[in-house]
Parts: sequence; structure tokens; C-alpha cells
Amino acid sequence: MAGAAPIYLDYQATTPLAPEAYAAMQPWLGGPDSAGSWANPHSSHSMGRKAAATVELARSQIDALMPQGGRVIFTSGATEAINLAIRGALPALAPRRRIVTVTTEHAAVRDTCLWLERQGFEVMLLPVHPDGLVDLDAARSAITGETALLAAMLVNNEIGVIQPVDVLADMAQSVGARFLCDAVQGYGRVTLPHAADMIAITAHKIHGPKGIGALWVRDGMEIEPLIHGGGQEQGLRSGTLSPALCAGFGAAARLAAALADVDAAHVAQLRDRAIALFEGWQVNGSLGQRYPGNLNLQRDGLDVARLISEVRGVAFSAGSACASGSGRPSHVLTALGLSSAQVRSSIRLGFGRYTTIDEIERAAHLIGDAANRQTG
Ligand code: PLP
Repeated sequence: MAGAAPIYLDYQATTPLAPEAYAAMQPWLGGPDSAGSWANPHSSHSMGRKAAATVELARSQIDALMPQGGRVIFTSGATEAINLAIRGALPALAPRRRIVTVTTEHAAVRDTCLWLERQGFEVMLLPVHPDGLVDLDAARSAITGETALLAAMLVNNEIGVIQPVDVLADMAQSVGARFLCDAVQGYGRVTLPHAADMIAITAHKIHGPKGIGALWVRDGMEIEPLIHGGGQEQGLRSGTLSPALCAGFGAAARLAAALADVDAAHVAQLRDRAIALFEGWQVNGSLGQRYPGNLNLQRDGLDVARLISEVRGVAFSAGSACASGSGRPSHVLTALGLSSAQVRSSIRLGFGRYTTIDEIERAAHLIGDAANRQTG
């Protein structure tokens, strides 16, 4: 028999599927007897048109949380959306060849930019202050008439810090550069930059399914596709869409809008309780400019790899899921100026809609007790 599930405090890695998103997907997962719910949404017969209507409803639900004046292109997730945005936008921006981004970006942005650097583009990584906020003076010097693209995230996936994306978008716009916002960790919860040209999001961080994301593209932006084929998604992303995944994503977006105030109040309450319980731990990154569903905490002398294996009753993370998977020390915490020992003694707690105060309290005791045993 399976034991009790751990308390899940890893919302920045992924979020639980909302029951409403699950219900929206179910009709589109049927077999041969399910009245055509398996039809191809790109077919022109009535079964296909019904599937296409589901896809379009989802698109409008997702677009409803975006700025006005753009369109939503479905992708397999945010990594693909970000690759499409960065690599797809550059050809039309020639002869400009400079890409500016922030050193604490997710690997989807950072590694795409570093790959482009090896292809001959000039890449500038903006430093951050010890609180994780981007150095705006460095941004001002880097963003010039030679800049093609500026890419910056809304909410950091490791430390929850909210970057001043409106200021960055205005800087890019003032020199005729394009601005991409990786809004994966903020979409539906934190105000999006009004002047972004492209916004990348993913369903699984807003209680939707994994395997689907989107790139929002401002009208008038020219983008080259990365994937060639049947010309779906207005020629920008060929391949057959999954109506089930689209429906789950759309339902998750609709729910995020409907519950925005309730979710925000609940998450703030969880955060306040967690901060009180983790008294004596150091918070990594700005506390004021932060999405409240993230706490990145450090305690001297802690071996976090050991802590995670000892505290089986809580699912939490050391740095980002991606960084822990690769064994690389967190580039985000390192950029804040933490020593490698401090990075190794930092944990990331992520919580949200379905976390209870009781879970936060039990998790804090489990983690606290194990930490005390280590540090004495
Ligand atoms: N950007 C940020 C800030 C993320 O947190 C993630 C997911 O971890 C991604 C991009 C990549 O998203 P996906 O898993 O949909 O490819």
C-alpha cells in the first residue's frame, strides 16, 4: 500500500492540476466510441471544427489575461515558446545583433542566448544586486541602438523576485529593440509588462497540464518559425494541436482569473505563516519585490542534499528543479553573491492555491527538526 503523499512545497517546479482543468480535458481524451472527441482540430469536417472550437475557446481564455493587441501561439511549453521568441525574432531585427538578458534568467532563456553567442551574436548578461533585482544602470548602458532583443523574466523561478519589467520594456522600446518577457512564474498572478512584444507562458505552472505552453506575440511583430510542416498556428508552429491540452490550459487560465483575489490572499497568508515559522533562516532575494508563493531560505552549516533525503514527508527543492537535476550549483544564488557553501545550504519552498496552513506548519516542523539535528 502506498504511504501518505508528502506535503508538496515545490510550486515553482510545477503545480497540481486543478480539478476544473482535468474536467475540461476529459471529453477530449475519448476513444473510438466517444463521438469524435479524438478528431484533428485542423480537419475541416464537422468533427474537426468542433475540436477547433475547443482550441479557440482555450486561446481566448489564455489571451484574456494578456495585454491587448496580440495573439496567442500554442507551443509544447515555455521552453519552446522562449526559443521561438528569441530565435524567431532575430532575423527581422538584422542588422542588430546584440541580445541583452539578465544573469538570473531560467536556462530556457540563458542557454538559448548563450547558444546564439556561439553562432556569432553578441550577448550581454546583466548583473543583479544582492537582492536579486536587475542592475538598471547596467541595463541602461547595454540597451542601445545595436540591441535587437532584451529578454527578462517577470518572476524568478528560484527566488521569486519580481523584476522591474515595465522599466526594462520601456528601455528596449526607446531604442527600437524588442522585449521578451518570460512570465512563466507570474502569469495570472502578477501584473504583466504593458509594453512587452512577446510573452512566454506554460500551463503547468498555473494548475494546467504539462506539455503545453504559449507565446503571446504583439501584432506587427515578425517572427520566423522554428518548426516547419503543416503551417498550423498561423505558420508559426507546425504540428497537430491537442484539444485536451489546450482545453486544460484554457480552463486553468480562466480559473486563475476568477480566483485571482482569493489565491493572492491565501498565498500571502501562507507566506506570513512560513516566515514566522522559519525565524532565524536567511531569506535569499528581495522580500518586498517578490511573488509571495516563494521562499528561498538559507541556514549556515546546512547540507541541503542531506536535508532533502532526510525529510521524506515534504517535497521541496534545493535551488531550481533544473539546477538540482543537472548537479550544477544554482547560478541565481551565485549571482546574488552567495558563497558555494551558502548555495549548498539554501532551500526553495513553493506553495499556492492548494497548500494549507496546516501543511506549512507540519512542513516547517519537519524541516526545522531535521535542520536542528544537522546544525546542533
Ligand atoms: N521559464 C521559467 C521561469 C520556468 O520556471 C520554467 C519552468 O521551470 C520555464 C521557463 C520552462 O517551462 P516549460 O517547463 O514549460 O518548458
